[in-house]
Amino acid sequence: MLEQLKNLQIAAKNEFLKIKDAGSLEQIRVKYLGRKGLISQLMKTIASLPPEEKPLIGKKANECKRVIEYFLEERLSQLKQKSTKNKKEKIDLTLPAFPFLTGHKHPITLVLEETYQIFAGLGFEIAEGPEIEKDFYNFEALNIPKDHPARDMHDTFYISKEILLRTHTSPVQIRTMEKTHPPIRIIAPGKVYRRDADVTHTPMFHQVEGLLVDTSASFSELKGILTAFVHQMFDPQTRLRFRPSYFPFTEPSAEIDISCVMCRGEGCRVCSNTGWLEILGAGMVHPEVFRAVDYDSEKYIGFAFGMGMERIAMLKYGIGDIRLFFENDLRFLTQF
Ligand SMILES: [Zn+2]
Repeated sequence: MLEQLKNLQIAAKNEFLKIKDAGSLEQIRVKYLGRKGLISQLMKTIASLPPEEKPLIGKKANECKRVIEYFLEERLSQLKQKSTKNKKEKIDLTLPAFPFLTGHKHPITLVLEETYQIFAGLGFEIAEGPEIEKDFYNFEALNIPKDHPARDMHDTFYISKEILLRTHTSPVQIRTMEKTHPPIRIIAPGKVYRRDADVTHTPMFHQVEGLLVDTSASFSELKGILTAFVHQMFDPQTRLRFRPSYFPFTEPSAEIDISCVMCRGEGCRVCSNTGWLEILGAGMVHPEVFRAVDYDSEKYIGFAFGMGMERIAMLKYGIGDIRLFFENDLRFLTQF
């Protein structure tokens, strides 16, 4: 009888292991553990055993039943695991791929890159300088001494009395002239800082400065270069207008307007109904600036110009608020 129980246990285990799905497992369960199953039949024969054998055989039969129940449960959980695993690994190659989001260039980067390209085509190289600058390079060498009223317009972030965050990229002019000799044709792009914040001003913005120094240079060349730039950046129909102005580091100086890119000069909200937009400052390099870098102002002549790239990008893409550039809002940035 004990032998029979043992064989039953082994047979059940083998059968369970061969089963591949939960449905067939149920059939095997009924075969062994059902009301008319093999275990029940065996239990019934215990009644006919001699009384002294009954307790032991009864106990062993119950043990055998529990072991078979255990095999059954274990096999069932194995089969369940296997079926969920199979589902996960099933790959449907006909399904469309997930949309893959690629990055976008920032609108400021776009106009900067376009600016580099246009000026490279005109023979200009890129020059760079530090954002934390000495008062000397930012102001004094550019003919803006300590008591000069033009310093007020700059709203400077001072780090110490002599160190500041550059308020324009013009110090790169000085640093370049100190290091090299004419002819010089550079543009100096970069971040500049001023204590100013509203719809058209941010404490940090991007400027591109241009400098040309040679034994001959004229205002008409300056006009030609800026016209070429504006026509490529905006529209070949764009007109330019030079207005007399004042900068300490150029003489004569001019502010340059372009015909409004929104209304083509007819007058709109963007140009305050004037038909013109101010985008650049420029002029012939002041002899005092040449003196600061030990250039002979009798021998060399040059011109410089500067512009804010946020302003250019706002006009090019029709953006009304400068702060949008720095809010990192994807709804805005993915439009470019
Ligand atoms: Zn307009």
